[in-house]
Amino acid sequence: MGTGCVHVVGAGLAGLAAATALAETGRCVILYEAAPHAGGRCRSYFDAELGCRIDNGNHLLLSGNRAALDYLDRIGAHGSLEGPLEAVFPFVDAVTGERWTVRPNKGALPWWVWSAKRRVPHTRAPDYLAALALRRASPSATIAAVLDPRQRLFPRLWEPLAVAGLNTGAEQGSAKLFWRMLAQTLGRGGAACRPLLPRVGLSESFVEPALARLRAKGAEIRFGARLRALTFGRDRVSDLDFETASIALDSADGVILAVPAAIAARLVPGLIVPDRHSPIVNAHFRCAPPAGSPFFVGVIGGAAEWIFRKREVLSVTVSAADRFVECAAPELRDLLWRDVAVGYRLPAHPVPPARIVKERRATFLASPEQLKRRPRQKTAWRNLLLAGDYVDTGLPATIEGAIRSGFAAAGLATDCQPRAFSKTVASGGWAAAH
Ligand SMILES: Cc1cc2nc3c(=O)[nH]c(=O)nc-3n(C[C@H](O)[C@H](O)[C@H](O)COP(=O)(O)OP(=O)(O)OC[C@H]3O[C@@H](n4cnc5c(N)ncnc54)[C@H](O)[C@@H]3O)c2cc1C
Repeated sequence: MGTGCVHVVGAGLAGLAAATALAETGRCVILYEAAPHAGGRCRSYFDAELGCRIDNGNHLLLSGNRAALDYLDRIGAHGSLEGPLEAVFPFVDAVTGERWTVRPNKGALPWWVWSAKRRVPHTRAPDYLAALALRRASPSATIAAVLDPRQRLFPRLWEPLAVAGLNTGAEQGSAKLFWRMLAQTLGRGGAACRPLLPRVGLSESFVEPALARLRAKGAEIRFGARLRALTFGRDRVSDLDFETASIALDSADGVILAVPAAIAARLVPGLIVPDRHSPIVNAHFRCAPPAGSPFFVGVIGGAAEWIFRKREVLSVTVSAADRFVECAAPELRDLLWRDVAVGYRLPAHPVPPARIVKERRATFLASPEQLKRRPRQKTAWRNLLLAGDYVDTGLPATIEGAIRSGFAAAGLATDCQPRAFSKTVASGGWAAAH
């Protein structure tokens, strides 16, 4: 891509990761964002009705998400996450009220599955080892076709992890992708599975510090800049056509297109991208979370799936939430609060004020068919690269995937890897992006 300016279009996490990595190398960077704010699908805002800041959706990181942690290091926000000191996953059965905590041991040898105190109640070690079958799964296999849904462990561990990680039900989710996710987290032991959450909010951790870093490095950031079209020459992009202005590219300039899949497909001729999406529903309940209560609780057998304790809200996530997207907000509020009340031992009435956020196109559907549609980062035009959670990172559509794709695009744009990225490459997903 040469040594000219890199025009990064889209200021979600992929665009921010690419822009910060490039700015770090001293490269001229201009970041364009259609919205008046950065962060895309991962941001915080003030909700006037609730009277507090909320995240668009709860986002959980794990300590094994190396690219995401490299990114936070780079923008000076590593200390902005919090979580339990060890890999602990508390669960509650919404029907029976039974509680248990899954506690993987620190090292990669998973002796925790032999400890009744650390595994799911009423399960045995061989139930866990059955997951090794995922490693040999064919690219067309779904999770439910490889793991036995009748086993007790399935609804109590594998299914909740798959739905949370892939935002796709086990009946549709790719077994191969689930295996890759497990291999990089549970497979590397508890040290790679410590849950991490933003102490204040998503924007305070992932977005604002990145913008500050970019400005400090002299990068230009243009909000309200919606790219309408690209002009293509024989082997390179020659112009960027924004709603407000057209920009002619220099022969050494490059473009990183970090917009969502559907927008990229509209802008780039012949680009094939995942075209089925999966929704996520979040409910933010304004209440004082009980002091000393867990950072989050997984719910089995309820309507809620995960409940997160934030500073001013208790917040529910339901992934692969097709069954709820058409439900009216008051109905969802009452339904989900029932599980919060059980999970956090709170009164069932009155139901606190709540904001229901439905992200209909939260991520692409991680089915075997859709995965075949993930594009590579390089395009047919030598100065145009793609970044975003939908490109073929080998990971599900996550913060980690988006940031890896941004780092990889920055590496390709400079024909070398950004400094902090070298650690990430070692963890494996990057190679799949090429
Ligand atoms: C509710 C919810 C919960 C989630 N939970 C988790 C979780 O727990 N853990 C996890 O790891 N991941 C989670 N994710 C996924 C994660 O948020 C995404 O994978 C990631 O944020 C995607 O980043 P991106 O940069 O690829 O895309 P986006 O965030 O979509 O960024 C694209 C940017 O491009 C801009 N844009 C669009 N069109 C144009 C244009 N024409 N010109 C200029 N700019 C344009 C958009 O405004 C946007 O800012 C969740 C997502 C949602 C929605």
